[in-house]
Amino acid sequence: MAEQLIISISGLRGIVGENLTPSIAAEYGCAFGTFLRCASTREEQVLSVCIGWDSRSSGQMLKSAVTAGLCAAGIDVIDLGLVTTPGVAVMVKKLRCSGGAMITASHNPIQYNGIKLLLGNAIAPPSHQAEQIKQYFFDKNFALVDSPNSGKVTADEHTDANHIAAVLALVEKQAIAAKKFRVVLDSVNGAGARVTTKMLTELGCEVSAINDEPTGLFAHPPEPTIENVKEVCEVVKAKQAHVGFAQDPDADRLAIVDEAGTYIGEEYTLALAARYVFSKRTGKAATNLSTSRMLDDIAAGAGGQVIRTPVGEANVAEAMLEHDCIIGGEGNGGVIDLRVSPVRDSLVGIALVLQLMAEMGKTVSQLARELGGYYMTKEKFAVDQARTQQILDLAKETFTDAKLDTTDGCRFDFDDGWLHLRASNTEPIVRVIAEAKDQSTVRRYINDVLKIRNQVLG
Ligand code: MG
Repeated sequence: MAEQLIISISGLRGIVGENLTPSIAAEYGCAFGTFLRCASTREEQVLSVCIGWDSRSSGQMLKSAVTAGLCAAGIDVIDLGLVTTPGVAVMVKKLRCSGGAMITASHNPIQYNGIKLLLGNAIAPPSHQAEQIKQYFFDKNFALVDSPNSGKVTADEHTDANHIAAVLALVEKQAIAAKKFRVVLDSVNGAGARVTTKMLTELGCEVSAINDEPTGLFAHPPEPTIENVKEVCEVVKAKQAHVGFAQDPDADRLAIVDEAGTYIGEEYTLALAARYVFSKRTGKAATNLSTSRMLDDIAAGAGGQVIRTPVGEANVAEAMLEHDCIIGGEGNGGVIDLRVSPVRDSLVGIALVLQLMAEMGKTVSQLARELGGYYMTKEKFAVDQARTQQILDLAKETFTDAKLDTTDGCRFDFDDGWLHLRASNTEPIVRVIAEAKDQSTVRRYINDVLKIRNQVLG
């Protein structure tokens, strides 16, 4: 059976040629255009959306289709070309657009593509607005305009320059350049290579770029997880580099490899970036309920505080804007600094980590060791919606000694660790994440959950 087209809080995603076709993409463009038109105030007569694509071969086809849909709804479109997702966010703000669209399936395999949307404040639509767009799409309820009022298409080639300038404003360029860091960069033949290499060169780094042709033909499975980035680890060792960076195809996620060629885990990306930011400022950070406690330790050390949100980039970004957070993001290697944009940004992560290395005069492995000491385990199992609720209810009866947060499934905070159970937004599965200072405690939490699962599922 063909897989379903997935429309979630993070946009639309499907398999090109099966369920993701030009007509679907054009209708999604119409739906987004209709939403923007209905949401706009009367003064905003000319509405515009900037659009980019991440190097997947079907990207230009889908970009043309979404552009057609937006123009049909009377929205002007600014074509940014082949750029990153955080690059689109920077340009939404810079060009004062009413929204942004990015043609990407992020870290999904090569047969997929998708459409991510941004509102005028450059955050992904929060759930109630994502729901409205979805409704326009499914009802084919489009506010189409006549020929004289159709949207017009222009191009803008300044995304890289604007993005780099915004990121470099966060760090001291000379301090990093003085270190002459040797850096390995794996952009998985996605959108990140060109802009990131340029930025690293401006930071005086000696860059060894691998998989840096934006062909969309991924050199390895594109999620920057430990099994997929072995090549960076090898090249770091061979080149005796100070650090290795691995991006996903649209360059919003970042994984780090230390100077010994060891993958340190995506949880450390946000933690290291936050360590630098909290060394200069104090305030609030925001992250989702499934992210490591390292961030709480760092914030607490600087007299700051962490806001926890449901999983989903838009939820974190919304909380960051609401609480004026100085740093935020997700444990999957997504760092957000509102001074650049409210979108996860691997360039922000890279710049902040290089600044931390330069200022502390320490290696990545030393810095990671100073933060770490936690063990995290992730599990998932298939279960339908009704029985998911039974599992959550039983968990509440079991872990009565924990502090409970129910904003996204159940998160139990214990003195010695935490446990998060939540239903996936896109599949009939429950995800279980546990973290503690020792492996046996993590195992105990997970085993307790598996016992509950067995009790419910029989
Ligand atoms: Mg991505």
